[in-house]
Amino acid sequence: MISVPEAQARIVEAVSPFPGQALALAEAWGRVLTRPVAAPIPSPVFDNSAMDGYALNAADTAAAGPGAPVTLFVAATVPAGICLRSPLKPGEAMRIFTGAKIPEGADAVVKQEEVERAGETIRLSRPVSWGENIRRRGEELEIGAEVLGPGRPLQAAALALLAGFGLERVAVHAAPRVGVLVTGSELVPPGAPLEPAQIYESNSFGLNAALQELGLVPAFAERCRDRREDLQWALAEGLQRADFLIVTGGVSVGDFDFVKEAAADAGVREVFWKVRQKPGKPIFFGKKSEGKCLFGLPGNPASALVCFYEYVRPALLRALGARELFLPALRLPLAQGLKKKPGLRHFLKARADLGGAAPSLHILEGQGSHLMRSFAAANALAVLPEEGESWAAGELVEAHLLPSIFQTWRGG
Ligand code: AMP
Ligand code: MG
Repeated sequence: MISVPEAQARIVEAVSPFPGQALALAEAWGRVLTRPVAAPIPSPVFDNSAMDGYALNAADTAAAGPGAPVTLFVAATVPAGICLRSPLKPGEAMRIFTGAKIPEGADAVVKQEEVERAGETIRLSRPVSWGENIRRRGEELEIGAEVLGPGRPLQAAALALLAGFGLERVAVHAAPRVGVLVTGSELVPPGAPLEPAQIYESNSFGLNAALQELGLVPAFAERCRDRREDLQWALAEGLQRADFLIVTGGVSVGDFDFVKEAAADAGVREVFWKVRQKPGKPIFFGKKSEGKCLFGLPGNPASALVCFYEYVRPALLRALGARELFLPALRLPLAQGLKKKPGLRHFLKARADLGGAAPSLHILEGQGSHLMRSFAAANALAVLPEEGESWAAGELVEAHLLPSIFQTWRGG
């Protein structure tokens, strides 16, 4: 049995970033650039006003003081989007608005709140400095400078940034096709009547959402009974249609756990089976010659999801070309003491309270790998190392922060 870091290292080694493709900006959320993007235009693209006010020549205001205002004639109005032909003449100002092009001859903008307007003139009681309230052409980036490099999934701000340079398409790594196959003869889909000894299938719903957290939508999600032939067929089929096949259930040592055998039959070579961890010890990871990957996650819903976050998510992020693969980790003081048996790394459903003055980590009630209520309340996994046995309240413990668009970092 290997350790968690060893298993994670093998996954990183086994998966390569997918080839590049050109995508429309509107489709590129969550994708990762294959190469740096150079600025095709400067940013800002021309000198423009940072304020609603008056464009003027700073030298004309040099003599202005509290008791000695300077008066300037308002010669024109420059709204955003208008390029004035006539330059500003000495002794003149122009009404200007945020984002409007600075007229030729002007070298500063004074805010409208700072002047006294009287008819066609403004009066100013202080000297304006050269360049005041002007956003300079190229002040953020000159033509050819790097706008954004590869490595981080494109989020809202990155997409707005790229769009601001007029880019329509970006070169990003292709997204892997992901398939979900849940196994278990006891499973019925929500909505169906529950016969004795059956349970509702829930893993595909958790995995579907966890994939969407990465901007991925599963290519398919299917169910399979615990029959070796059925599973063989389903795995072979699934591996045709997906680059990554996530299977849940059937990876243990029970008489009906056929995933490993069926995987071998489908030409999947084992990279590892079983990791020194709890939950999720029987996790299986294998690879086919053409690079397709199969994850066999234990069927208990909490195990499946922990394994997704700790192994599948990093693998998918690597395929997407991301550099940071693992959940963000923090060391936080424990809100309560705790004990465990040595030997396995434990992942505990926890709430990281980062909102207050003293951050802390609360281990939630209900750590069984079949218990999801605690997981639904968690925003982090507490990570207890293999060797450790007991921790006192206040001791620092690693926490892996779970992704969520609706994340809250206040306790409770
Ligand atoms: P297994 O890994 O197949 O031995 O399953 C372990 C436990 O997880 C059993 O109690 C299964 O009934 C349960 N289980 C397996 N797959 C699912 C699923 N897709 N949804 C909910 N529970 C599951
Ligand atoms: Mg099963």
